[in-house]
Amino acid sequence: MSVSCSSQTSLWVVIPLANEAEVLPELYKRLFQTLDTLDLPTQVMFVDDGSHDASWSILCRFAAQDERIHAVRLSRNFGKEIALTAGLDAVAARDDVACAVVMDADLQDPPEVIVKLLNRWREGHDVVYATRARREGETAFKKFTAAAFYRVMEVLSDTPVPRDTGDFRLLSKRALQALSGLRERRRFMKGLFAWIGYSQAQVCYVREPRAGGHTSWNYGKLWRLAVDGITAFSTVPLRFATWLGVLASLFAFSYGLWVIGKALWLGNNVPGYPSLMAVILFLGGVQLLALGVLGEYIGRIYTESKQRPMYLIAETTRIAAHLLAEGGPPQETKG
Ligand code: UDP
Ligand code: MG
Repeated sequence: MSVSCSSQTSLWVVIPLANEAEVLPELYKRLFQTLDTLDLPTQVMFVDDGSHDASWSILCRFAAQDERIHAVRLSRNFGKEIALTAGLDAVAARDDVACAVVMDADLQDPPEVIVKLLNRWREGHDVVYATRARREGETAFKKFTAAAFYRVMEVLSDTPVPRDTGDFRLLSKRALQALSGLRERRRFMKGLFAWIGYSQAQVCYVREPRAGGHTSWNYGKLWRLAVDGITAFSTVPLRFATWLGVLASLFAFSYGLWVIGKALWLGNNVPGYPSLMAVILFLGGVQLLALGVLGEYIGRIYTESKQRPMYLIAETTRIAAHLLAEGGPPQETKG
């Protein structure tokens, strides 16, 4: 199903947000200061990811005042990766898309960078991602853990995920459509963006501090995102568990031979409790670790096998009613 708008194609900006009422007016101002300078029509798709504050009513007001603003409200908070997917699905279902830009609502991704993204797209690239040259206003620990995560991903992932690059990027129409065909539920968008391939280009920018409000990512959520990223794009932890098992059993087997040999030649003089305990605890630890790794993957198979819709839409401002029904992929897009 395709949603027609006009014969002209637009640049679509997709913005997932949760509880961002404080920054929305400033975002609107700064975003359109840039969008108004562009030489192609622009539209914005906000996705309200179950906000509890005034975000939705502000978005409705924007949409009533400005035809270029559209908004979708999810039935509850589904998390940023899913909210972003909902926005990209809503845009991919339209036939007036030239390209789409994904950005955060808190102005940490400066709207001015969109001009640079657009220039690289015009050179013929399908995905233009914005890499953080510097991150302002974030703690040293956050910067350290983020840097460590990107480097671990680099080593483990089968699909190279660009370093220090968030979701802020531009997608061509075909990249957008390829992405909306990937329906896995535990989503690690940075990996999916890389997975689709095509011609990818980079621009650098300085990540600014939040314009207001608070980050909703605590270390628990970031850890879950990191585990999602690694398990979705790498089976190295499974192989690691296997090798750990092989090494531990080799060690245990040799040690067993040594104990038997010693008992045969030198006689058994009973002591051995410390070494016995050491071996039992070591093997127990290795087995639990391996089980944990297996569990992470099996849990993901279980989640996928339930085939639930990824998200549910509660309300929309102006986009087609079919999006209200379910959170599935756009059925079919006609040009
Ligand atoms: N966000 C969302 N759903 C959530 C959490 C965050 O849509 O459950 C949005 C948030 O409003 C913002 C973007 O995702 O537009 C990035 O979130 P945040 O600034 O909290 O993350 P950080 O920049 O600290 O990594
Ligand atoms: Mg932020």
